[in-house]
Amino acid sequence: MPKKVTILGIPVDAITMREAVARIDGFIEKREPVLIATANAEMLLRATHDGELCRILQGAALVTPDGAGTVWAAHHLGHAMPERVAGYDMAQELMRKAPERHWRFYFFGSAPGVAEKAKAKAERLYPGIEIVGTRNGFFTEADEAAIVQEIKEAQPDILLAALGVPKQEKWLSRHLRELGVPVCIGVGGTFDVMAGVMKRAPLWMQRAKLEWLFRGLMQPKRAGRLLALPKFVLKVHAEKSKNGQTKSNPL
Ligand code: UDP
Repeated sequence: MPKKVTILGIPVDAITMREAVARIDGFIEKREPVLIATANAEMLLRATHDGELCRILQGAALVTPDGAGTVWAAHHLGHAMPERVAGYDMAQELMRKAPERHWRFYFFGSAPGVAEKAKAKAERLYPGIEIVGTRNGFFTEADEAAIVQEIKEAQPDILLAALGVPKQEKWLSRHLRELGVPVCIGVGGTFDVMAGVMKRAPLWMQRAKLEWLFRGLMQPKRAGRLLALPKFVLKVHAEKSKNGQTKSNPL
């Protein structure tokens, strides 16, 4: 069993991208529905005051370290964390392997038209991929039964849900059994990036561990969310002091 590192009460898997994909392959073989989350600093911080999200993450089959903040926190707390496993990158890795492994995808979430554009992009990038359905992420409670039914009937192996955090995790958790989809993953802004609605940070910024800053600047509506990172750093520092360990350099 791969190692887990507890960050602010959430066990995060200390794995590489390759190991994450191998674990997912195993879940698909097993066909027992599981929920997978990709945890960045904002999600981990939110889980400290959102009990439902906290319980969902504690029970998730896999929580990958999405973001420089999560990797930093693990190191700061004195644990190994081999690399960042971001939701967008993991989704691309799974899609790249899909034609050969015959994995079927369903794209659920984002504004009307976006999941369809992401599907077209995936079909161009990964010839032979089977995307068995798409549905936008704007709905009322009254629509939910029909959405679940539609996804069930499409019989995907992997459901990518892009409803934002924590809506996607809560929705997936609530419907996991009923959906019967082996692997359900919350993927945030993945379809927006694939559809070209939103840009991902340039590689140099990702490498400089500044993707969080890029996202905050590109979406002024989210600027307030930039505060999540310093708050997260302070909380991790506090957790470490509680554990009586030594200090290192944040980010
Ligand atoms: N979204 C959705 N339904 C909602 C709210 C958001 O489908 O009720 C979509 C939104 O269009 C975007 C995605 O969720 O494509 C991720 O949103 P955001 O970037 O705000 O979330 P994050 O994952 O960064 O928290």
